[in-house]
Amino acid sequence: MKKRNTAQLLGIFSIVILILVQIFIIRGVWKQKDEMFNLRYRMLSQEALTAMSRRWNTDGFDTARYILSEFSRQIVREVAAISNDSVLNEKKKDILEFVTDVLNEEQFLSYFLSGYFERQGFEKDFNHKIIVNYFELIDFDTRIPIYVSEEYASRRPLRTARPESGQVQGPGSGPGSGAPPPGMGRRQTSEILVRDDRSEDNNYRLDFEYYIDFSDKQKVILKETSASLVLSILSILVVATLFLITYRNLMEEKRLSDLKTDFINNMTHELKTPLSTITVAGRTLEMEKIRSDDSKILETAKLIGKQSVHLNQLINMILEISMWERTQFELDKRKIPVEELMNDIVGSFKTGSGSSVSLMEKYHLEGVKADLDIVYFTTLINNLLSNAVKYSDKDPVIEIEGFKENNSIMIRVADNGIGISKNDQKHVFDKFYRASSGNVHKYKGLGLGLYYVKRIAEAHGGDVSVASKPGKGSIFTVTIPYE
Ligand code: ADP
Repeated sequence: MKKRNTAQLLGIFSIVILILVQIFIIRGVWKQKDEMFNLRYRMLSQEALTAMSRRWNTDGFDTARYILSEFSRQIVREVAAISNDSVLNEKKKDILEFVTDVLNEEQFLSYFLSGYFERQGFEKDFNHKIIVNYFELIDFDTRIPIYVSEEYASRRPLRTARPESGQVQGPGSGPGSGAPPPGMGRRQTSEILVRDDRSEDNNYRLDFEYYIDFSDKQKVILKETSASLVLSILSILVVATLFLITYRNLMEEKRLSDLKTDFINNMTHELKTPLSTITVAGRTLEMEKIRSDDSKILETAKLIGKQSVHLNQLINMILEISMWERTQFELDKRKIPVEELMNDIVGSFKTGSGSSVSLMEKYHLEGVKADLDIVYFTTLINNLLSNAVKYSDKDPVIEIEGFKENNSIMIRVADNGIGISKNDQKHVFDKFYRASSGNVHKYKGLGLGLYYVKRIAEAHGGDVSVASKPGKGSIFTVTIPYE
């Protein structure tokens, strides 16, 4: 049991390790593909921006900048006049919202990118996102910061000097435009930064970022990683299957070795009993008192004879088993009227068993003849009958039935014995199997009787099955074809 648990635990442990390693690898591959995806679109976007500025001399935000400049010029005085803090804050919020809306709606970068991606044969559907980092209203020497994002404040101390009048920075020419600064907290990892823009004129100063995000990205990456994913799952499945097969083989070998150990113990026990009886009988014969009594001599001689026959039977059984292992059954089959043969076998069994055993026979065989080997068939029926008597804790009542069904004869032996549990029913026909295995057994035996029954039935082209309820009894059914 301990060995079984250790093997099981070790197997499960290695499979878990394998799964973890595979997850680790897949995550690595996924991350790599994700980065490649982002890099691909980042490069494409830069190409698109260059193409756009070369062809139209714009970055797509000119209209937005014009509207914002006009808006700022008109509103700056109004904002400067607000003295109440909460009113001012509300106003700033509205202004930021307006700025964001204008940037989102009055740009055609998204349209251009989409067309550019499509022409290059890439995914054209994406969502854009604009994050305003800084917005300031300017009126001569007055500067009114409307919004400063945390990131912006931390990465760049606010400039206080007023720019020279009339200085308007062209698209993409603002300081620091280009690659995103590291550690942009607000953006999602799936978003790709396309443009980081700073624009400034006499009326406003603005800093914003333009991102794109593909909703189909996961699907695209999944498609790209599917080969590694399938390989990983396959390797896990193969290892798990190999483990299961090895484990089952190991357990089967262990079961067989346990069965063999039990068999040797039982066999030793079975051989010892007649041997010790013979030894005691021999010693008895040496005694003067016995030798003078003819009847005692005869009785002891009979006892020795009977035990020798039993010993002989046991040894033959073992020899036969090893012969069966090496060669096929050789049956001496003849056309035999089954009912007559059954009457003979059961009749002799009745004579040999005590009066406490009741045997009832019921045949509907109508003189059917089947190809049978009388000796083996007799052994088969005898084994079933003697088990029915042996595995009983009360006076045995045995019903023997014989009938025809689908060109087969069916012989059914039902008893009122101790019965067999569901799990044992699966194994009772196995070689050496005993329902309660171990050295100590209430009922003596070697676990070969039913193995014989099955082998003999199969050698006749038939089979045997069992139905049983523990405590109620068992029914063994032998099927043998007769045509
Ligand atoms: P053995 O009787 O030598 O143990 P068998 O191969 O004849 O070996 O039977 C295998 C096992 O099946 C037995 O150990 C017993 O537990 C169970 N068995 C067989 N026949 C019966 C029966 N009629 N009633 C209950 N248990 C049975």
